[in-house]
Amino acid sequence: MSHRITLIPGDGIGPEVTAAARTVGEATGVSLEWEVVEAGEATIRSQGTPLPDDVLASIRKNRVALKGPITTPIGGGFRSVNVALRQQLDLYASVRPARAIAGEGTRFPETDLIVVREATEGLYSGVEHWVDRDHTAAESVAVITRKASDRIVRFAFELAKRERRRRVTAVHKANIMKTTGALFQTAFREIAAKFPEIPSDERLIDNMCMQLAKKPEEYDVIVTTNLFGDILSDLCAGLAGGLGVAPGALYGETLAVFEPVHGSAPKYAGQDRADPVAEILCLELLLRHLGETEAADRVFRAVWETIAEKKVVTYDLALPGYTTRPVSPSTCSAMAKEIARKIPDVRLDTPLPKPRGAPASVSDAALEA
Ligand code: NAD
Repeated sequence: MSHRITLIPGDGIGPEVTAAARTVGEATGVSLEWEVVEAGEATIRSQGTPLPDDVLASIRKNRVALKGPITTPIGGGFRSVNVALRQQLDLYASVRPARAIAGEGTRFPETDLIVVREATEGLYSGVEHWVDRDHTAAESVAVITRKASDRIVRFAFELAKRERRRRVTAVHKANIMKTTGALFQTAFREIAAKFPEIPSDERLIDNMCMQLAKKPEEYDVIVTTNLFGDILSDLCAGLAGGLGVAPGALYGETLAVFEPVHGSAPKYAGQDRADPVAEILCLELLLRHLGETEAADRVFRAVWETIAEKKVVTYDLALPGYTTRPVSPSTCSAMAKEIARKIPDVRLDTPLPKPRGAPASVSDAALEA
Protein backbone atom coordinates (compact mmCIF):
# COMPACT_ATOMS: atom_id res chain seq x y z
CA MET A 1 0.00 0.00 0.00
CA SER A 2 1.29 3.45 -0.92
CA HIS A 3 1.21 6.30 1.60
CA ARG A 4 0.81 9.88 0.39
CA ILE A 5 2.53 12.31 2.73
CA THR A 6 2.80 16.08 2.75
CA LEU A 7 6.44 17.20 2.87
CA ILE A 8 7.37 20.72 4.01
CA PRO A 9 11.14 21.14 3.50
CA GLY A 10 11.19 24.40 5.51
CA ASP A 11 14.00 26.93 5.94
CA GLY A 12 17.72 26.91 6.75
CA ILE A 13 18.88 23.33 7.22
CA GLY A 14 15.31 22.07 6.62
CA PRO A 15 15.76 21.09 2.93
CA GLU A 16 18.94 19.15 3.76
CA VAL A 17 17.55 17.20 6.72
CA THR A 18 14.23 16.42 5.00
CA ALA A 19 16.18 15.17 1.92
CA ALA A 20 18.14 12.95 4.33
CA ALA A 21 14.89 11.55 5.76
CA ARG A 22 13.65 10.82 2.23
CA THR A 23 16.87 8.92 1.46
CA VAL A 24 16.26 6.75 4.53
CA GLY A 25 12.54 6.41 3.74
CA GLU A 26 13.38 4.98 0.29
CA ALA A 27 15.68 2.39 1.86
CA THR A 28 12.83 1.01 3.99
CA GLY A 29 11.01 -0.26 0.90
CA VAL A 30 7.74 1.27 2.13
CA SER A 31 5.96 3.05 -0.72
CA LEU A 32 6.01 6.71 0.33
CA GLU A 33 4.65 9.28 -2.09
CA TRP A 34 5.73 12.80 -1.11
CA GLU A 35 3.58 15.84 -1.87
CA VAL A 36 6.04 18.70 -1.49
CA VAL A 37 4.64 22.09 -0.41
CA GLU A 38 6.55 25.23 0.51
CA ALA A 39 6.16 27.34 3.63
CA GLY A 40 8.40 29.85 5.37
CA GLU A 41 10.84 32.42 3.99
CA ALA A 42 10.40 31.37 0.34
CA THR A 43 6.62 31.85 0.39
CA ILE A 44 6.90 35.17 2.24
CA ARG A 45 8.84 36.35 -0.83
CA SER A 46 6.63 34.66 -3.46
CA GLN A 47 3.15 34.81 -1.89
CA GLY A 48 3.43 37.33 0.96
CA THR A 49 2.69 34.71 3.63
CA PRO A 50 4.83 32.12 5.41
CA LEU A 51 1.89 29.70 5.64
CA PRO A 52 -0.03 29.51 2.34
CA ASP A 53 -3.47 27.87 2.28
CA ASP A 54 -2.25 25.02 0.04
CA VAL A 55 0.00 23.81 2.88
CA LEU A 56 -2.95 23.49 5.26
CA ALA A 57 -5.10 21.95 2.50
CA SER A 58 -2.41 19.36 1.69
CA ILE A 59 -2.08 18.29 5.34
CA ARG A 60 -5.87 18.12 5.76
CA LYS A 61 -6.07 15.94 2.64
CA ASN A 62 -3.16 13.57 3.36
CA ARG A 63 -3.59 13.64 7.17
CA VAL A 64 0.14 13.06 7.67
CA ALA A 65 3.07 15.43 7.12
CA LEU A 66 6.83 15.46 7.55
CA LYS A 67 8.08 18.96 8.24
CA GLY A 68 11.48 20.62 8.31
CA PRO A 69 12.07 23.57 10.65
CA ILE A 70 10.80 27.00 9.66
CA THR A 71 12.45 30.30 10.57
CA THR A 72 10.26 32.63 12.61
CA PRO A 73 10.65 36.14 11.15
CA ILE A 74 11.54 38.63 13.87
CA GLY A 75 9.15 41.59 13.63
CA GLY A 76 7.56 42.10 10.21
CA GLY A 77 4.03 41.32 11.40
CA PHE A 78 4.19 37.54 10.84
CA ARG A 79 3.28 35.17 13.64
CA SER A 80 5.24 31.95 14.04
CA VAL A 81 4.29 29.48 11.31
CA ASN A 82 4.77 26.69 13.79
CA VAL A 83 2.34 28.15 16.34
CA ALA A 84 -0.16 29.01 13.57
CA LEU A 85 0.02 25.49 12.10
CA ARG A 86 -0.70 23.90 15.48
CA GLN A 87 -3.62 26.21 16.17
CA GLN A 88 -5.20 26.12 12.70
CA LEU A 89 -5.04 22.33 12.41
CA ASP A 90 -5.77 21.82 16.10
CA LEU A 91 -2.60 19.76 16.53
CA TYR A 92 -2.99 19.81 20.27
CA ALA A 93 -0.50 17.17 21.43
CA SER A 94 3.19 17.85 20.92
CA VAL A 95 5.04 14.64 21.74
CA ARG A 96 8.81 14.75 22.11
CA PRO A 97 10.60 11.53 22.97
CA ALA A 98 14.06 12.10 24.49
CA ARG A 99 15.98 8.85 24.38
CA ALA A 100 19.75 8.62 24.67
CA ILE A 101 20.92 6.76 21.58
CA ALA A 102 23.70 4.24 22.15
CA GLY A 103 24.64 6.25 25.25
CA GLU A 104 26.45 8.76 23.04
CA GLY A 105 26.70 12.50 23.50
CA THR A 106 25.16 12.52 26.96
CA ARG A 107 26.08 12.38 30.60
CA PHE A 108 22.81 10.50 31.12
CA PRO A 109 22.92 7.34 28.95
CA GLU A 110 19.81 5.94 30.68
CA THR A 111 17.61 8.87 29.61
CA ASP A 112 14.32 7.69 28.10
CA LEU A 113 11.63 10.34 28.54
CA ILE A 114 8.59 11.52 26.62
CA VAL A 115 7.41 15.11 26.98
CA VAL A 116 3.71 15.55 26.11
CA ARG A 117 3.00 19.25 25.68
CA GLU A 118 -0.34 20.97 25.13
CA ALA A 119 0.30 22.86 21.89
CA THR A 120 -2.68 25.10 21.17
CA GLU A 121 -3.18 27.41 24.14
CA GLY A 122 -1.44 28.61 27.34
CA LEU A 123 0.94 31.53 26.99
CA TYR A 124 1.20 30.89 23.23
CA SER A 125 -2.42 31.83 22.58
CA GLY A 126 -1.23 35.05 20.96
CA VAL A 127 -3.31 37.22 23.30
CA GLU A 128 -0.85 39.95 24.18
CA HIS A 129 -0.75 43.72 23.95
CA TRP A 130 0.94 46.88 25.08
CA VAL A 131 -0.67 48.42 28.15
CA ASP A 132 0.35 52.01 27.39
CA ARG A 133 1.14 54.17 24.38
CA ASP A 134 4.82 54.46 25.27
CA HIS A 135 5.29 50.69 25.33
CA THR A 136 6.67 50.66 28.85
CA ALA A 137 4.34 47.87 29.98
CA ALA A 138 2.92 44.78 28.26
CA GLU A 139 0.53 41.95 29.08
CA SER A 140 0.36 38.40 27.78
CA VAL A 141 -2.65 36.21 28.56
CA ALA A 142 -2.26 32.51 29.36
CA VAL A 143 -5.44 30.81 28.20
CA ILE A 144 -6.03 27.45 29.88
CA THR A 145 -9.30 25.61 29.25
CA ARG A 146 -10.68 22.53 30.92
CA LYS A 147 -11.38 20.95 27.52
CA ALA A 148 -7.77 21.29 26.28
CA SER A 149 -6.35 20.24 29.67
CA ASP A 150 -8.53 17.13 29.79
CA ARG A 151 -7.62 16.01 26.30
CA ILE A 152 -3.85 16.48 26.66
CA VAL A 153 -3.81 14.66 30.01
CA ARG A 154 -5.93 11.85 28.59
CA PHE A 155 -3.58 11.69 25.57
CA ALA A 156 -0.59 11.29 27.93
CA PHE A 157 -2.21 8.47 29.92
CA GLU A 158 -3.34 6.65 26.79
CA LEU A 159 0.18 6.94 25.33
CA ALA A 160 1.63 5.63 28.62
CA LYS A 161 -0.77 2.68 28.55
CA ARG A 162 -0.14 1.87 24.87
CA GLU A 163 3.64 2.09 25.19
CA ARG A 164 3.79 0.39 28.61
CA ARG A 165 5.49 3.32 30.29
CA ARG A 166 6.10 3.42 34.04
CA ARG A 167 4.60 6.69 35.17
CA VAL A 168 2.96 9.98 34.16
CA THR A 169 4.15 13.17 35.85
CA ALA A 170 2.20 16.43 35.55
CA VAL A 171 4.27 19.61 35.56
CA HIS A 172 2.67 22.94 36.51
CA LYS A 173 3.01 25.94 38.80
CA ALA A 174 -0.35 25.72 40.54
CA ASN A 175 1.05 27.13 43.79
CA ILE A 176 1.54 30.54 42.14
CA MET A 177 -0.81 30.42 39.13
CA LYS A 178 -3.93 29.98 41.20
CA THR A 179 -6.41 29.79 38.32
CA THR A 180 -4.59 28.58 35.18
CA GLY A 181 -2.23 26.26 37.06
CA ALA A 182 -4.95 24.99 39.36
CA LEU A 183 -7.30 24.25 36.43
CA PHE A 184 -4.63 22.11 34.74
CA GLN A 185 -3.84 20.42 38.07
CA THR A 186 -7.51 19.57 38.69
CA ALA A 187 -7.87 18.14 35.19
CA PHE A 188 -4.77 16.01 35.76
CA ARG A 189 -6.02 14.61 39.07
CA GLU A 190 -9.45 13.74 37.72
CA ILE A 191 -8.16 12.04 34.55
CA ALA A 192 -5.38 10.25 36.49
CA ALA A 193 -8.06 8.69 38.71
CA LYS A 194 -9.50 7.04 35.58
CA PHE A 195 -6.17 5.28 34.91
CA PRO A 196 -5.50 3.68 38.32
CA GLU A 197 -3.14 1.11 36.75
CA ILE A 198 -0.66 3.87 35.76
CA PRO A 199 1.25 5.51 38.62
CA SER A 200 1.14 9.30 38.48
CA ASP A 201 2.51 12.27 40.37
CA GLU A 202 3.05 16.03 40.08
CA ARG A 203 6.02 18.40 40.13
CA LEU A 204 6.29 22.17 40.14
CA ILE A 205 8.11 23.35 37.00
CA ASP A 206 11.11 24.77 38.87
CA ASN A 207 11.63 21.62 40.92
CA MET A 208 11.15 19.50 37.78
CA CYS A 209 14.05 21.26 36.01
CA MET A 210 16.34 20.55 38.96
CA GLN A 211 15.17 16.91 39.22
CA LEU A 212 15.73 16.32 35.49
CA ALA A 213 19.22 17.80 35.59
CA LYS A 214 20.11 15.42 38.46
CA LYS A 215 18.29 12.15 37.73
CA PRO A 216 16.33 12.05 34.46
CA GLU A 217 16.19 8.25 34.58
CA GLU A 218 13.61 8.51 37.38
CA TYR A 219 11.03 10.14 35.09
CA ASP A 220 9.08 8.72 32.20
CA VAL A 221 6.07 10.49 30.60
CA ILE A 222 5.79 14.20 31.45
CA VAL A 223 2.59 16.09 30.63
CA THR A 224 2.41 19.87 30.80
CA THR A 225 1.15 23.15 29.38
CA ASN A 226 2.52 24.90 26.29
CA LEU A 227 5.35 27.13 27.53
CA PHE A 228 6.60 24.71 30.21
CA GLY A 229 6.50 21.92 27.61
CA ASP A 230 8.48 23.98 25.11
CA ILE A 231 11.23 24.56 27.65
CA LEU A 232 11.22 21.05 29.12
CA SER A 233 11.41 19.37 25.71
CA ASP A 234 14.61 21.28 24.85
CA LEU A 235 15.99 20.44 28.29
CA CYS A 236 15.19 16.76 27.76
CA ALA A 237 16.65 16.89 24.23
CA GLY A 238 19.88 18.16 25.82
CA LEU A 239 19.84 15.33 28.36
CA ALA A 240 19.42 12.75 25.61
CA GLY A 241 22.21 13.96 23.32
CA GLY A 242 21.29 17.35 21.90
CA LEU A 243 19.01 19.02 19.37
CA GLY A 244 20.60 17.17 16.46
CA VAL A 245 19.02 13.88 17.60
CA ALA A 246 15.67 15.03 19.06
CA PRO A 247 12.52 14.18 17.05
CA GLY A 248 8.98 15.42 17.66
CA ALA A 249 5.41 14.78 16.60
CA LEU A 250 2.22 16.84 16.65
CA TYR A 251 -1.07 15.01 16.86
CA GLY A 252 -4.66 16.21 16.46
CA GLU A 253 -7.83 14.11 16.44
CA THR A 254 -7.20 12.99 12.83
CA LEU A 255 -3.99 14.72 11.64
CA ALA A 256 -0.32 14.19 12.49
CA VAL A 257 2.72 16.34 11.64
CA PHE A 258 6.23 15.13 12.40
CA GLU A 259 8.94 17.74 12.96
CA PRO A 260 12.25 17.85 14.83
CA VAL A 261 12.65 19.79 18.08
CA HIS A 262 15.43 21.88 16.52
CA GLY A 263 14.99 25.03 14.48
CA SER A 264 16.33 26.06 11.07
CA ALA A 265 19.92 26.67 12.34
CA PRO A 266 20.47 29.31 9.58
CA LYS A 267 24.23 29.45 10.13
CA TYR A 268 24.55 25.88 8.82
CA ALA A 269 22.14 26.26 5.90
CA GLY A 270 23.40 24.91 2.58
CA GLN A 271 26.59 23.46 4.09
CA ASP A 272 25.53 19.79 4.23
CA ARG A 273 26.72 19.91 7.83
CA ALA A 274 23.58 19.53 9.98
CA ASP A 275 22.80 16.35 11.89
CA PRO A 276 19.99 14.54 10.00
CA VAL A 277 19.12 12.20 12.90
CA ALA A 278 16.29 14.28 14.43
CA GLU A 279 14.46 14.46 11.08
CA ILE A 280 15.17 10.76 10.39
CA LEU A 281 13.72 9.84 13.79
CA CYS A 282 10.67 11.94 12.84
CA LEU A 283 10.36 9.63 9.83
CA GLU A 284 10.58 6.69 12.24
CA LEU A 285 7.66 8.11 14.30
CA LEU A 286 5.74 8.76 11.08
CA LEU A 287 6.21 5.16 9.92
CA ARG A 288 4.96 3.94 13.32
CA HIS A 289 1.93 6.22 12.98
CA LEU A 290 1.21 4.66 9.55
CA GLY A 291 1.39 1.17 11.05
CA GLU A 292 4.70 0.39 9.26
CA THR A 293 6.19 -0.97 12.47
CA GLU A 294 8.97 -3.12 11.03
CA ALA A 295 10.22 -0.29 8.81
CA ALA A 296 10.14 2.05 11.83
CA ASP A 297 12.11 -0.47 13.92
CA ARG A 298 14.68 -0.78 11.12
CA VAL A 299 15.14 2.98 10.93
CA PHE A 300 15.66 3.23 14.70
CA ARG A 301 18.13 0.33 14.72
CA ALA A 302 20.10 1.73 11.78
CA VAL A 303 20.34 5.14 13.49
CA TRP A 304 21.44 3.48 16.73
CA GLU A 305 24.11 1.38 15.00
CA THR A 306 25.43 4.31 12.99
CA ILE A 307 25.80 6.44 16.11
CA ALA A 308 27.27 3.59 18.16
CA GLU A 309 29.79 2.79 15.39
CA LYS A 310 30.86 6.44 15.04
CA LYS A 311 32.33 6.00 11.56
CA VAL A 312 29.99 8.25 9.62
CA VAL A 313 28.51 10.91 11.93
CA THR A 314 28.01 14.66 11.69
CA TYR A 315 30.05 17.25 13.56
CA ASP A 316 27.86 17.37 16.67
CA LEU A 317 28.37 13.63 17.27
CA ALA A 318 32.11 13.85 16.58
CA LEU A 319 32.95 16.55 19.10
CA PRO A 320 35.77 15.89 21.54
CA GLY A 321 34.16 14.69 24.76
CA TYR A 322 31.34 13.01 22.86
CA THR A 323 33.55 10.21 21.69
CA THR A 324 36.36 8.15 23.15
CA ARG A 325 38.38 8.23 19.91
CA PRO A 326 39.05 10.90 17.28
CA VAL A 327 36.36 10.96 14.59
CA SER A 328 36.43 13.19 11.55
CA PRO A 329 32.96 14.61 10.98
CA SER A 330 30.95 13.50 7.96
CA THR A 331 28.30 15.39 6.04
CA CYS A 332 24.55 15.32 6.57
CA SER A 333 23.99 13.48 3.28
CA ALA A 334 26.79 10.94 3.97
CA MET A 335 25.30 10.09 7.37
CA ALA A 336 21.86 9.64 5.81
CA LYS A 337 23.32 7.32 3.15
CA GLU A 338 25.09 5.30 5.85
CA ILE A 339 21.85 4.89 7.84
CA ALA A 340 20.00 3.95 4.63
CA ARG A 341 22.72 1.40 3.71
CA LYS A 342 22.30 -0.34 7.06
CA ILE A 343 18.52 -0.63 6.94
CA PRO A 344 18.12 -3.92 5.02
CA ASP A 345 20.67 -5.72 7.21
CA VAL A 346 19.83 -4.60 10.75
CA ARG A 347 18.88 -7.39 13.14
CA LEU A 348 15.49 -6.94 14.80
CA ASP A 349 15.59 -10.10 16.89
CA THR A 350 18.30 -9.04 19.36
CA PRO A 351 17.92 -6.51 22.18
CA LEU A 352 19.62 -3.17 21.62
CA PRO A 353 23.01 -3.11 23.32
CA LYS A 354 23.06 -1.35 26.68
CA PRO A 355 24.40 2.19 26.29
CA ARG A 356 28.08 2.53 27.15
CA GLY A 357 27.80 6.06 28.43
CA ALA A 358 30.32 8.20 26.58
CA PRO A 359 32.38 10.51 28.79
CA ALA A 360 30.52 13.60 27.66
CA SER A 361 31.80 16.89 28.92
CA VAL A 362 31.49 19.40 26.14
CA SER A 363 31.78 23.14 26.53
CA ASP A 364 29.12 25.48 25.17
CA ALA A 365 31.76 26.97 22.90
CA ALA A 366 32.48 23.56 21.35
CA LEU A 367 28.78 22.95 20.79
CA GLU A 368 28.37 26.24 18.98
CA ALA A 369 31.45 25.57 16.79
P1 NAD B 1 18.09 26.08 16.29
O1 NAD B 1 17.58 24.81 16.82
O2 NAD B 1 17.84 26.36 14.85
O3 NAD B 1 19.66 26.17 16.48
C1 NAD B 1 20.30 26.22 17.76
C2 NAD B 1 21.69 25.57 17.63
O4 NAD B 1 21.51 24.17 17.72
C3 NAD B 1 22.34 25.81 16.27
O5 NAD B 1 23.17 26.91 16.27
C4 NAD B 1 23.15 24.55 16.09
O6 NAD B 1 24.39 24.69 16.76
C5 NAD B 1 22.37 23.50 16.82
N1 NAD B 1 21.56 22.68 15.93
C6 NAD B 1 20.22 22.74 15.74
N2 NAD B 1 19.84 21.78 14.90
C7 NAD B 1 20.94 21.09 14.55
C8 NAD B 1 21.19 19.98 13.70
N3 NAD B 1 20.21 19.32 13.05
N4 NAD B 1 22.46 19.55 13.56
C9 NAD B 1 23.45 20.13 14.23
N5 NAD B 1 23.29 21.18 15.05
C10 NAD B 1 22.05 21.66 15.21
O7 NAD B 1 17.50 27.25 17.21
P2 NAD B 1 17.47 28.83 17.00
O8 NAD B 1 18.80 29.29 16.47
O9 NAD B 1 16.97 29.37 18.27
O10 NAD B 1 16.36 29.07 15.90
C11 NAD B 1 16.61 29.33 14.51
C12 NAD B 1 15.28 29.58 13.83
O11 NAD B 1 14.48 28.38 13.87
C13 NAD B 1 14.41 30.67 14.53
O12 NAD B 1 13.80 31.44 13.53
C14 NAD B 1 13.38 29.87 15.31
O13 NAD B 1 12.21 30.60 15.50
C15 NAD B 1 13.18 28.69 14.38
N6 NAD B 1 12.66 27.48 15.05
C16 NAD B 1 11.78 26.73 14.36
C17 NAD B 1 11.29 25.56 14.91
C18 NAD B 1 10.34 24.75 14.11
O14 NAD B 1 10.21 24.95 12.91
N7 NAD B 1 9.61 23.83 14.70
C19 NAD B 1 11.72 25.14 16.19
C20 NAD B 1 12.66 25.93 16.86
C21 NAD B 1 13.12 27.10 16.29
